[in-house]
Amino acid sequence: MSQAGVRLVFLGAPGAGKGTQAKAFQEKFSVPQISTGDILRTNVAKGTPLGLKAKSFMDAGDLVPDDLIIAMMESELGGRDSYILDGFPRTVAQAEALDALLTRLGHPLTAVVQFDCDREALIARLTGRWTNPRTGRTYHSEFNPPRVAGIDDDAGGPIVQRKDDSREVVAERLATYDEKTAPLVAYYEGTGLLVRIDALKPIDEVTAEIFAAIEARTKAVRT
Ligand code: ADP
Ligand code: ADP
Repeated sequence: MSQAGVRLVFLGAPGAGKGTQAKAFQEKFSVPQISTGDILRTNVAKGTPLGLKAKSFMDAGDLVPDDLIIAMMESELGGRDSYILDGFPRTVAQAEALDALLTRLGHPLTAVVQFDCDREALIARLTGRWTNPRTGRTYHSEFNPPRVAGIDDDAGGPIVQRKDDSREVVAERLATYDEKTAPLVAYYEGTGLLVRIDALKPIDEVTAEIFAAIEARTKAVRT
């Protein structure tokens, strides 16, 4: 697969595996991941003006207001050719702003990958998730454990459980997803860009399924 000009959106509920697959893609095909959650958490950790505004929403499992996210993404995307958007857009207003920006840049999306996953699996994945706060790489205590408990295989640093992966905040985040983000599936279905993936499969099988779908799509565009 030629990675030039590959622009993907990974869409799906919290815990569906978007970050895991975005990192696998980044490693294999050099298409960089842009994770709004990771960018926001870095801003919170550094105490930037954006981080100070975003923190209370994130802690409560709500979305950070659209105007802040859209401004942040406009500055991230300008000047980039290829990327995987992980965690953006999350509202119809964000999707419309992304469309307008990409039209302005002359950069259409290649595909929008929808991760289909059931509620029970999402809760089990989020409540057992361990994250490297520096790199955003995640593990799972049962489904994808690190070689040494509590330590990242790659970076060697400690991995932690995110505060918003507690059972209570997870319930809020899933309710927020149903209300604000789930409507994006219908939004993108109308554009013909949507590819649905069975995210319940094991990690390697999901990677293979996404790769096959993207390759079929980029070939179809070239021929
Ligand atoms: P998202 O970015 O969509 O919130 P993550 O990629 O962080 O989701 O994955 C959530 C949790 O589920 C992590 O602990 C990850 O290791 C685990 N996970 C990801 N994909 C799978 C999968 N296909 N099967 C089982 N566990 C998975
Ligand atoms: P997950 O990987 O579990 O889906 P994220 O790391 O993507 O979670 O997001 C964590 C939190 O950051 C969200 O609950 C929300 O408060 C905020 N956030 C991330 N992306 C967005 C976005 N596009 N719009 C609004 N808020 C966002």
